Amino acid sequence: MGLADIKARVAGEAERVGRAPESVTLIAVSKVQPNERVASVLEEGHRVFGENKVQEAAGKWPAFKEQYEGVELHLIGPLQTNKARQAMELFDVIHTVDRPKLAKTIARLAEELDHCPRLFIQVNTGEEPQKAGVLPADADSFINECRDLGLVIEGLMCIPPAEEEPSLHFALLKKIALRNGLEGLSMGMSGDFETAIAQGATHVRVGSAIFGERDYS
Ligand SMILES: *Cc1c(COP(=O)(O)O)cnc(C)c1O
Repeated sequence: MGLADIKARVAGEAERVGRAPESVTLIAVSKVQPNERVASVLEEGHRVFGENKVQEAAGKWPAFKEQYEGVELHLIGPLQTNKARQAMELFDVIHTVDRPKLAKTIARLAEELDHCPRLFIQVNTGEEPQKAGVLPADADSFINECRDLGLVIEGLMCIPPAEEEPSLHFALLKKIALRNGLEGLSMGMSGDFETAIAQGATHVRVGSAIFGERDYS
């Protein structure tokens, strides 16, 4: 538990599987966590953070960004088109591009703002009806559609079904990425980031194992 421990485990697993530790970016998922916990991870020198809600991130990150230099913010939750502008102004990376309407909105705003965050496409590898993400069967055509819009896609992201073995989902995500020439793989959370690293994750999203359990009460 804690940042130092998780950093060591990320580096250790990368080395174990013959990868450079720098090839894995640790995203500290700070959603719902009290500001003191976030500040203490910033104080330890960490700069890459993930949030799943635009509104919540907008409430806390502008102040942190003023106080700490070099913060890199990742949006890892679903994005509504009416919040796309705010998200593109606040986040450096969006992991959840998942439908044509959103891709078109991002492409239009990128022209207008003359700036576009780095982009990942979310794939609903478990084909869960309640979960966001493009279906695996539609991924290739959606990736092409994004590229036709002029968007630069860095990679793919998935959240495996909670009750299933994650490695099958990580393998599927990697297979789709490879056949589309994508290098980024955003996969792995507190319970399975080492498995994800062994399967090629370039970005792991770790919340509770760094900050402690989230208190939603
Ligand atoms: C909350 C969240 C995480 C982090 O979950 P932990 O189990 O706390 O590590 C990772 N990815 C996404 C998309 C999340 O919403």
